[in-house]
This record gives sequence, C-alpha cells and structure tokens, in this order.
Amino acid sequence: MRRVFSSHDLLAAHHAKNLLESSGIRAEVRNERLASAMGELPPAECQAEVWVVLDGDAARAERLLREGVPVSGAPWTCPHCGEQLEPQFAQCWRCAR
Ligand SMILES: [Zn+2]
Repeated sequence: MRRVFSSHDLLAAHHAKNLLESSGIRAEVRNERLASAMGELPPAECQAEVWVVLDGDAARAERLLREGVPVSGAPWTCPHCGEQLEPQFAQCWRCAR
C-alpha cells in the first residue's frame, strides 16, 4: 500500500480514486471520516488520502494524478515535514511522502 494523493477535498480524493481505477489501478480512499471533521481537527490531520493497493502501481498512479486531477483549492501543508505546498502538487516534494 502506498499513498499517492491527499486532499482536504473529499470529492477530489474520490475523483482521484476513480481516475486510478478506470486506469486499472486498485486504490482506496482513507481518512474519509476525518476529512468530514474539518474544523475540529488541525487541517494537516484530516486530509482524505488515496492509497494504491500495489506498490508497483504507485509511480504510474502519481503520474496519472499529476496530469489528470483538476487543481482544487488552497495550498496545503505536508503532514510529515510541515512544508507548504501548492495545490497542484499531490505529494510533498521535500520529503516525498
Ligand atoms: Zn513533507
């Protein structure tokens, strides 16, 4: 399992998952419940996440998502290193998580 996408926007996460699955990549959305609790928890802890089931799909999935998922919303903060990231990046460039 590897995380390939995270967003405060639950719809964006589901869109990402659908995009991956339509390309034959098995994926699942995590933290759905947390994402809906926005406002009660620190934002970095309640992002919806999309994980690919097979690690070998991760690179293809990331490329697909970079090219295929609409840019939405605001800059986000990496939950692992605190880096500020622009919304078009689905993954932290600093720590690659
Ligand atoms: Zn980071």
